Amino acid sequence: MKKKIIVIGCGFAGVFAAKKLCSFGKAVEVTVIDKKGTFDFLPMLPDVISRDIDPGYLAYPISELSRGLGFDFINEEVRSVDLENNTVSCSQRSLGYDYLIICSGSQTNFYGNNEIQANAYKLDDVKDAGVIYKRLGRDDFDTLLVTGGGYTGVEIATAAKVYLRKRLIKKRIILVERAPSILGQLPEWMKRYAVKNLKDLGIDILVNTAIEKADGDTVSLSSKESFGNAMLIWAAGVRTADFVQKINAEKNPQGRIKVDEFLRLRDNCFIAGDCANVLHKKAFLRMAVQFSIYQALSAAENIIRNIKGKGLLKYKPIDLGFIVPMANNNSCGNILGMKVTGGPATLLHFCMCIYRSLGLKNKLGVIKDLLQGGAK
Ligand SMILES: Cc1cc2nc3c(=O)[nH]c(=O)nc-3n(C[C@H](O)[C@H](O)[C@H](O)COP(=O)(O)OP(=O)(O)OC[C@H]3O[C@@H](n4cnc5c(N)ncnc54)[C@H](O)[C@@H]3O)c2cc1C
Repeated sequence: MKKKIIVIGCGFAGVFAAKKLCSFGKAVEVTVIDKKGTFDFLPMLPDVISRDIDPGYLAYPISELSRGLGFDFINEEVRSVDLENNTVSCSQRSLGYDYLIICSGSQTNFYGNNEIQANAYKLDDVKDAGVIYKRLGRDDFDTLLVTGGGYTGVEIATAAKVYLRKRLIKKRIILVERAPSILGQLPEWMKRYAVKNLKDLGIDILVNTAIEKADGDTVSLSSKESFGNAMLIWAAGVRTADFVQKINAEKNPQGRIKVDEFLRLRDNCFIAGDCANVLHKKAFLRMAVQFSIYQALSAAENIIRNIKGKGLLKYKPIDLGFIVPMANNNSCGNILGMKVTGGPATLLHFCMCIYRSLGLKNKLGVIKDLLQGGAK
């Protein structure tokens, strides 16, 4: 009897899990479920804005992956999983499984504030990047507020600045952060580097400040300052999908589920990527492409071993480092324990992006657009 394996989510973790599982051949029947029809290359979303990257090059049809790798694709949203009865419920059907890998990533967290959600932009997928690009181009606002001083907020603020600067549009851009500093967990030198770069670009930074209200025209801050005719981009945190939040398991405040050393929640349910909370050397791993991919490969390998009756292997993360990309090419980061800044840091970021892009057409398209639209 073929083993039925369901992979929820076709981002980095889902693609690599499906690829590995399909390589096991006829003994398994792999079904991938995703609410979108495309695999979206998230790390380059800000570059759609700053470097005029065609969003089409960042999206890869899952139906093509399905044909190439040999899995069934269901283009529906997962609403709930029943771990006791091994069932996944989607918008239009329910499916049974022998093994499940949850790879549904994370999404912008509006912390239940529906008014802000309705009036702010977010950057979760390729479509969102195109929407922000178009709105900036309409040039119909006075102030741009970006909230959330983590990697994504910093990237978006610099991307918007470069976009407007190229088109000679003058706007005030403000990065708003609730904590006492931006890039909270990062080393001091990196924070100083990023703050200086933002200031040199003319981006104002407000720390110890939160967005209190956004009614579609006016954005009000906890400092009692308010901005009329404002555009707001919300990058103040992420959370896991609703169905993950509903699973009865130990989770962190973002809803990432704590897994064991084999990436299991239970014997036949594995979790990989942004929605897995993986403890390593007394700290939990950050959300990043490299961890998503290797967790997925490790979880898939363990399913194959389990089917073959072999013992499971522990997931051993290797941290190659990270870059905070900034659109004027003054990026900074730490790769293999070494400080990298400026152009070389930006170049390393794009090398990773091109290497990890899916499909030759997308890789070549990204290279072409990068060469044409590099930061000016
Ligand atoms: C703007 C931005 C820039 C980033 N830059 C970097 C970077 O430079 N370097 C880096 O390492 N990381 C970066 N990241 C983080 C990185 O993209 C994530 O860590 C990575 O994408 C996680 O992979 P994943 O497979 O877990 O989730 P994702 O890639 O988010 O994929 C999850 C998939 O699950 C699907 N899904 C979600 N909910 C459901 C549901 N209910 N039903 C069906 N399908 C569902 C989604 O549609 C999606 O296709 C960035 C992220 C963003 C947003």
